[in-house]
Amino acid sequence: MTRLQITTPDSLPEEQGAEAALRPARLEEFVGQPQVKASLRIAIDAAKGRGEPLDHLLFFGPPGLGKTTLAMLLAREMGVQLRTTSGPVLEKPGDLVGLLTTLQPGDILFIDEVHRLRPVLEEFLYPAMEDYRVDVRIADGPNAQSIPMAIERFTLIGATTRFGLLTPPMRARFGMVERLHFYPPEDLRVIVARSATILGVPTDEEGTLEIARRSRGTPRVANRLLRRVRDFAQVRAEGHITGAVAREALARLNVDEFGLDDMDARILTTIIEKFGGGPVGLTTVAVAVGEDAGTLEDVYEPYLIQQGFLERTPRGRVATPLAYRRFGVTPPPGAQGTIFERDA
Ligand code: ADP
Repeated sequence: MTRLQITTPDSLPEEQGAEAALRPARLEEFVGQPQVKASLRIAIDAAKGRGEPLDHLLFFGPPGLGKTTLAMLLAREMGVQLRTTSGPVLEKPGDLVGLLTTLQPGDILFIDEVHRLRPVLEEFLYPAMEDYRVDVRIADGPNAQSIPMAIERFTLIGATTRFGLLTPPMRARFGMVERLHFYPPEDLRVIVARSATILGVPTDEEGTLEIARRSRGTPRVANRLLRRVRDFAQVRAEGHITGAVAREALARLNVDEFGLDDMDARILTTIIEKFGGGPVGLTTVAVAVGEDAGTLEDVYEPYLIQQGFLERTPRGRVATPLAYRRFGVTPPPGAQGTIFERDA
C-alpha cells in the first residue's frame, strides 16, 4: 500500500477530476520526453499515411510521468476511440471479450499495470494482438469448446511501472517500447506554468521553478504541489505565486528542497543509522520502514537513485555520501568513493 502523501507519485483518489483538466490533448502540448515524442510522431504519421492502426505500444516508467496521458493523446491524434482497463481488474478472458469484440478499426485498448495481467489473460491476448482473433469459450467442463472470432485491427497500449515483471512473450508482442524518464526541473517548470495558466493562477518564474524543483521529477506531483501552493497563495498572498510564497507554502507541507518527503527520509536514515549505510537487502529495509517492498522499489527508490542518494548493488541498497550529508551525518571514511571501493 502506498501511503497517501503530498509527494507520492501515485494518483490520489480525490484528484482525478483535477488531473483530467490539466492533461495535454496534443502531442505538441506534452512537455519534455523529446525522444519519446519524436518516435511517437513518426509512428503516428507513418500509420496514418498507410491508413493502418498504430503498432502495439508499451510505455514504462515510474507513476505520474505521463503514460496514461500519452495513450489518450495518441487516440486523439489518430482520431480513434480509447478504451481503458487495467491488469488487476481483469479476472478472466470473458472480461476482455466484450471490450475486444466491440472495438472499431484502429481503436486503442489501454491496459494500465499490464504486468499484473493474469497468465490466462495474457495467453488470451496473444492471438488478439497477433492475428486479431479471440478464442471464445462456449462451454465449461471437460467438453469445453472454443470458437475463434475475428476482431477489428486495433492497437494495444500497455503501461507498466515494472518492465522486469512483464513476461518475455508479452514484451515481444509490442512493436514499440518507450521508456519515460524523470523530468528535469526546466521541463517541470514549463508544466507548472502551463497548469497555472489553465487554473488562472498568476505566477512568476521563480515561483514555478521552486515548485518544479521539489516535484520528484514527476508531473503529477508538480501539478499537485501547484494546487496546494495556490491555496496558500490565495489565503496569504493575494493569489500570486512568487518564489517566496512557494518556498513558504512548501516548507509548511514538509516538502524539502529536493522534493524528499517523510518516507524518503525514513528510508535513507534507516539505512544510515540502522544498517551502517548498507549494503542492506530491500526486504529488510521494507520491514524496517513499514512499507511494502514493491512500493519501495517502484515508487521511492527510482527517484532516490536518480538523485544520487541511493545505490542498488548486487549486495543490497547503499546510502551514498550525498545521503549522509543531506541528513547531517558524516560519511564513514570508506564511503567517500563508490560502493565498489568500499566493498574491496
Ligand atoms: P501515469 O499514467 O504515468 O501515471 P499520467 O499520464 O496520469 O501518468 O499523468 C499524471 C498527470 O501529470 C496528468 O494530470 C498529466 O496531465 C500530467 N502530465 C504528465 N506528463 C505530462 C507532460 N509531459 N506534460 C504536461 N503534463 C503532464
